[in-house]
Amino acid sequence: MSHTPQDAILSVRNLTIDIPTDTGTLHAVRGIDFDLKPGQTLCIVGESGSGKSLTSLAVMGLLGRGIKPRADVMRFDGIDLTTARKRQLRSLRGARMSMIFQEPMTSLNPAYTIGDQLTEAMLIHGNTTRDAARARAIELLQKVGITAAESRLTQYPHQLSGGLRQRVMIAMALMCSPDLIIADEPTTALDVTIQAQILRLLKDLQREMGMAMILITHDLGVVARIADKVAVMYGGELVETGDTAQIFAKPSHPYTRGLLNCIPLPGRAERGAKLGTIPGIVPSLVGDVQGCAFRTRCPHARPACRGDIPRHADGDHAFRCIDPQGFAHTDQPEVQP
Ligand code: ADP
Ligand code: MG
Repeated sequence: MSHTPQDAILSVRNLTIDIPTDTGTLHAVRGIDFDLKPGQTLCIVGESGSGKSLTSLAVMGLLGRGIKPRADVMRFDGIDLTTARKRQLRSLRGARMSMIFQEPMTSLNPAYTIGDQLTEAMLIHGNTTRDAARARAIELLQKVGITAAESRLTQYPHQLSGGLRQRVMIAMALMCSPDLIIADEPTTALDVTIQAQILRLLKDLQREMGMAMILITHDLGVVARIADKVAVMYGGELVETGDTAQIFAKPSHPYTRGLLNCIPLPGRAERGAKLGTIPGIVPSLVGDVQGCAFRTRCPHARPACRGDIPRHADGDHAFRCIDPQGFAHTDQPEVQP
């Protein structure tokens, strides 16, 4: 089953993350598959708690102590990430794959200058001089739209605004020209106009550098503009994956349609609203988890949803539902009150 495309830079098959908790095992990520080719952008969408961050941390080898991911395949450019040693992962990170986090202060060290932090990875990983690393830092600060770049090098993170810190984070992630960048809700902490600017910037830099990118975002407008492929996560599973055009033209899982507001769910939000507006709660993923996790909120739920859920695929577009059309044929057009 583990067929993975030759030209993928990242292939993941059956990634599973179980977390031991006081009340039992939390099945936080449950057998997800995806591939990414060089230069492609995959957007992962899904509401809070669906396992998006754990998935990216697993790829980066950054899951916390005591959390061990399992996968049939987790391969980056021919390197088996499931068996790679800590040292090898450390040298991959920052050099060939890097991550941008939601909150820059979790990755910027308040005790070091911007310049030291920007040049550190390059000095560790690259065969380079201090002067060359400094020049690269200035170049990237300019690229991410920071003025007076040179004078920023001697500043400390607390001297910068949130927007500038996020730009510094992006510059830092790009220092070694990685092949893969993972951006986990990189702009959520910023105000809306700055969010748009920064995402555009990220996309432009990605194109220019030919990087593959995984972008985790809550904003479907961003997905439509930026993604080549979309993966919709719910309750630790990928409920639907496909090319962006396919997902928007023919959203097939009821959850995806709920996100896109194509189906009349109770209390539905306005078109274009942010994710997480579908009423109801995600079932516990602790202990024995069976059936479709979305059934507690799905307008089409029936007893069969408690059993095994088949996967329906049409080329690269795939989804899981007991109904081969995801009940799309039963959706009623919206009735005006
Ligand atoms: P997302 O990024 O989609 O919001 P996460 O990947 O952060 O979701 O988390 C998925 C689930 O795993 C959530 O229920 C979260 O509470 C849980 N989780 C994440 N990290 C840990 C951890 N270190 N210990 C216990 N539970 C965790
Ligand atoms: Mg997250």
